[in-house]
Formats: sequence, C-alpha cells, structure tokens
Amino acid sequence: MTDSYRHKGLRRKLVDTVAGKGIKDQKILEALGKVPRHYFMDSGFVEFAYKDQAFPIGSGQTISQPYTVAFQTELLNVKKHDKILEVGTGSGYQCVILLELGAKVYTIERQRELYLKSRTLLTEMGYKPYFFYGDGYKGQANYAPFDKIIITAGAPEIPDELLKQLKIGGRMIIPVGGNKGQVMVTVDRIGEEEFKKTEHGFFAFVPMLKGKQ
Ligand code: SAH
Repeated sequence: MTDSYRHKGLRRKLVDTVAGKGIKDQKILEALGKVPRHYFMDSGFVEFAYKDQAFPIGSGQTISQPYTVAFQTELLNVKKHDKILEVGTGSGYQCVILLELGAKVYTIERQRELYLKSRTLLTEMGYKPYFFYGDGYKGQANYAPFDKIIITAGAPEIPDELLKQLKIGGRMIIPVGGNKGQVMVTVDRIGEEEFKKTEHGFFAFVPMLKGKQ
C-alpha cells in the first residue's frame, strides 16, 4: 500500500476536522496527521479512510471514528513510556496512535482473525506492541499493573479484574453501557480501594463481549 500526496492532503483535512471538534492536544493531532488510516481499512472502504467516521473492519467490528480515538487518547493523558493496556485491538489504529505518543502498549483482541490481521499489519509497519489473543475482561495480570487502561468496546459494566490491574495514580477510560450507546467514563485509581469516576458524554461502540468466539 502507498501513502500518496492525496492521502496526506485528506489526512490534513481530517486533522482540522478533529481539531475543530475540540481536540487540543498537539501531539495527538500530529499522530493523526502522521498515521495512514487507509492502511487499517478493509479494501472496500479505503476511499472513506479520511472521513471522521467509524467503518467495518470485518468480523462484525469497526475501526473507531478518528474523533473518538483522539477523545479517548486525550482523556488518557498519555506520557512517554506509559505502560498501557488496550482492550479491543480491532484494526490496530488506536494502538498505533498510542505507540506514536511513546507509550508501551499491551493490546488484547478476542476475534482471532482481527488479532492476526492487525498483528501482521503493525509488524509490517514497524510497530511493536505486545499482542494478545484472548478475553480483555481478564486483562493481562502477568504484565500488570498498568499506568493506563483503555477499553475500545462498549462495556456493560466496569470489569473488576481491570480495576485491579490499574496502578495507583493511574487512569482507565471505558465506554460504559449497552447496545443503545455508552457513557465515556474515566476511572482514576486514588488508592488501593479508592476510585474516582467521571463522565464525559455519550458515544456508540461495538459491544465488549465475554470469552472468545
Ligand atoms: N481500537 C480499535 C477499535 C475496534 S472496535 C481500532 O482502533 O480499530 C472494538 C474491538 O473490541 C473489536 O475488534 C472487538 O472484537 C473487540 N472486543 C470486544 N470484546 C472484547 C473482549 N472481551 N476482549 C478483547 N477484545 C474485545
């Protein structure tokens, strides 16, 4: 696949659109401007890669809308070398944005086809997160605790196991709700048993499902 001047031009417009919707973090806007989103799309949708919309990526899943990726990333307040757990690798696009910000990313996907596809793509592009095929509800206890945890699927509730894997002083971002939409929630871990939740508006994600299929 190539990244033409046309793609680059469309990407600059996308960055302007996302900035116009209220994203201020320059590093995030730079990452959106750098990463060729069309590499992450199914061939039938490549033409639409620079629209600020979610699109199908196979296995009944979607690549998140760029604004939503930027919004979640901004709330995660990513610092260089942060250890981040991502639930829902999907296309791998969100993962790459986190890597571009200097984070160390551990990403889990429960759809085998998507896990294999994004692992191949990201490796070809030279990115090196830790890939896991499995159930994100369980997190990755072997690598915990994490500075940040990002869930990119709509969760019916906040999984306890993931709260346990969050560092004290760390933050989780998770869209909480059913299939009619979710509320974006940040959870700050203040102490061993103390968590502070804050709500950040309404979004629509594909559901976070239990177990593998
Ligand atoms: N971050 C992705 C968004 C993909 S959509 C991107 O940038 O493209 C959400 C993804 O979460 C889907 O791929 C879906 O298969 C996955 N998912 C749903 N439930 C999961 C679970 N319990 N564990 C891991 N991944 C899950």
